[in-house]
Parts: sequence; C-alpha cells; structure tokens
Amino acid sequence: MIMTHPGLPENWAWLVMAGMLVGGIWLLLASVPKSPRMRVISLASVPLLGPVVRKLAASRGVLLLLKVLTVLVFLLVIVAGLFGTPIPERNLATLLTWNLWWSGLILSVFFLGSAWCAICPWDTLAQWLVRHRLWKRVDSGSSLNLRVPRWLASVWPALFLFVALTWLELGVGITTSPYATAGIALLMVVLATASLALFQRKAFCRYFCPVGRTIGFYSQLSLLELRPIDGDTCARCTTLECYHGSDTIEPCPTWLVMGRMQQNTYCLSCGNCGQSCPQQNVAWRIRPPSVEALHSARPHWDEAWFMIGLLALTGFHGLTMMPFWETWMRKLAQVIGDSGQLLWSFSIGLVAVMAIIAALYAATIAITKAISHSRLDFKRLFSTFAFVALPLAFAYHMAHNLNHLVREGSGIGAVFANPLGIDTAPLSMMEKHARSMHMWLSQDTLFALQALLMLLGFWIAVQVIRYRGGALLEPGSRWSRLRLLPLLGFAIGITGFHLWLLMQPMIMRM
Ligand code: SF4
Ligand code: SF4
Repeated sequence: MIMTHPGLPENWAWLVMAGMLVGGIWLLLASVPKSPRMRVISLASVPLLGPVVRKLAASRGVLLLLKVLTVLVFLLVIVAGLFGTPIPERNLATLLTWNLWWSGLILSVFFLGSAWCAICPWDTLAQWLVRHRLWKRVDSGSSLNLRVPRWLASVWPALFLFVALTWLELGVGITTSPYATAGIALLMVVLATASLALFQRKAFCRYFCPVGRTIGFYSQLSLLELRPIDGDTCARCTTLECYHGSDTIEPCPTWLVMGRMQQNTYCLSCGNCGQSCPQQNVAWRIRPPSVEALHSARPHWDEAWFMIGLLALTGFHGLTMMPFWETWMRKLAQVIGDSGQLLWSFSIGLVAVMAIIAALYAATIAITKAISHSRLDFKRLFSTFAFVALPLAFAYHMAHNLNHLVREGSGIGAVFANPLGIDTAPLSMMEKHARSMHMWLSQDTLFALQALLMLLGFWIAVQVIRYRGGALLEPGSRWSRLRLLPLLGFAIGITGFHLWLLMQPMIMRM
C-alpha cells in the first residue's frame, strides 16, 4: 500500500486564484514605468555586519573548512550507498541525497543563490585530484587546459544531462536504491574530474553540470547577489584580478568580470574574485528577487530552452508523484505492449510532457508575434519571454520540495546515528505514518507557504511580461496591452496546472 501526503486545501487554492485575477487585471490596466525601481542593500555597508562580510568575502579559511566538511559527508554517503543496507529509508545515501539535500538545495537557492557550488564536493574532489593542491593556485596541474569546443560551449549539454538525470531518478528509480545513488554521486565526480583534466577553468560547472545550471538559472531569482561594492573602482581597474586571478588565487572559474556582472547565472559563489581583488571591492547584496528576470538578465537561445526545460521537468516531476500516474503508465504500457519496469511508457510520458510545454510556449510566442506585428524575430521573442517561465518553474519547484522536506525530513537523525542502516528493517506502515505526522512545520504553515510561493511566482511572471513586453506596446495606447494577453494566458495556465498538482495527494517518497 502506498502512503500519500494530503494536497493543498481548496480555500488556499481560491486565495491564489483571487491573487492571480488581481495580478492579471493590474497587468492590463497599470502603466509600465520605463525601468523598475530596485533597491539593493550591500551587506558590506551594514553597521557591525559590514566588516564581517568583507572579511568573509576575502577569506579562504572558512570556505576551505566547509569544503572539507562537505567532502567528508559526501564520502559517508558513498560508503553508506555502496556498503549499507539496501532499504532506502534506512540508508543515509538515499535519505540524505533525495529527501534532504535535493529538496533543501532548491529552497536554499532563493536565500543563498549558488552557495552550494562554493562547497560542492564533486568539484572540490575534482580540483584536488587534478590540481594536486587543497586551495592554492596551480596554473594547470594535470589538466590539458584545452578550450571547450564551440559545439559544447552552451547549456545544451547541461539540459541533456538534466533530462537524463530525471529519467534515472524517476524512471529507473535510483532514488530508492542506495547503491545507485552512490553510483550517480561517483559519476558526477568522474565527469567533473574528466572535464577539469581536459578543459580550461571549470567548464563542467559552466556548461555541463545539470545541478549547477539549475542552481544558476534559479539563482537569477535569488535574494542574494555577489557584486562590486563600488562600481567606479571596478571601472578604473586595469589589472582585473577577479578575471585573471592573482599569484595565489585562481581566476574566475566561469570567465566572469566582477565589474560587468549583470546576472547570477554563471557565478559559482566560489569567492575567488573577493579573495583576489586588491581593493576588497566585492561583497554580497540583498536585492528584490525579480531584478534579473525583469531586466538585467540577457536572453539567449540555449538558455531560453534550459528555462523552458526546467518548467517542463518540474511539472513532470510533480505529475509522477501523483497516485494516478501509475494508472496512466499501466494503460499506456498495455497500448504499446510495454512490460517490466515500464521504462518505455515512462520515457514516452517524459518526452510528451516536455513537448507539450515547449509547444504551448512556442505557440504563445507565435501568437504574440502575430498580434503585436513585432519586428523582433521569433527566436528573439522566444528567448526574451523565457524569463516568464523561470519564476513559474522555481515557485512550483520550491512549493513541491517544501512538501518533501517538511514531511519527510524527520528520519534524518536516525540515519545519521546509523548511516549504513545496520540491522534495520523496512519502515512499517505505522512508522511511515508517524514519520509523516512528525512535520518540521505545522501543516497550515506549510500550506500557507505553498500558496505564497505560487503567488510570488505568478507575480514575478506578470512583472516580467510587463517590463519585457513593454517593447511590444505602442506608447500611450491602452488597448495595445491586449497584445500581452497570450503571455498572461500562458502564466495563468501554468500556475493553474501547478496549483492543481499541489492540490492532489502526493506519494510519500520513502
Ligand atoms: S556547477 Fe555542479 S559541479 Fe560545479 S560546483 Fe556547482 S554543483 Fe558542483
Ligand atoms: S570568481 Fe566568478 S564564479 Fe567565483 S564568486 Fe566571483 S564571479 Fe562568481
């Protein structure tokens, strides 16, 4: 018998729908300012906190300590996965990786941006293996230092790997196998190491890592950004240590110049720029989470596809956790003559959901182009408005993962006490029930947060339509706003679908 978590109650859903109605009307009626007013607070200038932030941004010790700790936990996950019990809910590898880390990671991006990448054990181990140093700069170590070929230098490889990871996670079901979980973790280290051994800087993080790119795109909507404290200091700088590195500090691993940073997408929060800047001119700032999606992030074709891919895959992820998914798959399997693990049926479902979302979005853009008589070509419009998809995907992903984290995280203490699950038996129904009842937040708080996240995602999407759609509007003509209706319809449709998913009972992961 499978256990399910209750879905979002109807009254919360009505509240979200009322918010969407208000947001939609406001989009059509309110005037659009030329550029959004965004206030940022530099943590470096906050009394008392400022000096600590500057010190942290320029220090290597704290980061190194955190990296060592993460590597130790990662090694424990590998040992538990390879040598521990195969019972997923009793093994640290599966419980920590899928219930805690993956769920918590997506939520952490909202508050801390790409902080995970700063302490990522895959990259840390790859660095140690190829550079043969704990942290000091080495020009190439054992690396061939090749340029990444043009055909690989985009986020297409990361999108492809993200689809593959989803297939392994939900289709093959590695989330319920400690052994396979350890295997995939080791594979990430191998890929990061091979890339570092072949290519310049951190090509794996910049182009290939599905987790890093997911974090990178979502961190466009983070509350935190790493930026210059004083823009003029960067403008006057001729040495660009942030980009080239210093005698002891590595250069920016993803080829960024701090003084020209407009978006978080490719920043790994590694801290190299802060440590190498001779003026100590780099610090974290708190900002409105919509700033990049609204105007500062630049649209690109491959990145637009990554964002649409994220939207499709997060919705697909939710669908597969619904009790009716299994029935759908069985019916499809009967039709196509699939048997066993139903991998063909699952693969068809995955491709179909991705194709439907991509086709819906492409149709929205085609209609918008037709009714607005825009001079911008289809590709340009497709890339520009993909920023509408990003907050919708991120908000649902957070709301869904929050459910997992709050309801399924309670067993973590027990698996840390016995990481290999020695002499344990599978959880009984009673224990599963007790675990799901022992929530980290009250159920009402969880529902309120989920509803709030849905509203936040929709609100940012509407704002993106307003600002990025401004170019399609004739100045002074109120009726020209109607040209934004297809995009508004897309945002309403996707949010409605996500809301419906949240209202369904969700299968407990383990
Ligand atoms: S991009 Fe991937 S490999 Fe690189 S630091 Fe981030 S999570 Fe780790
Ligand atoms: S060096 Fe580059 S990747 Fe690292 S924190 Fe600075 S901008 Fe981000």
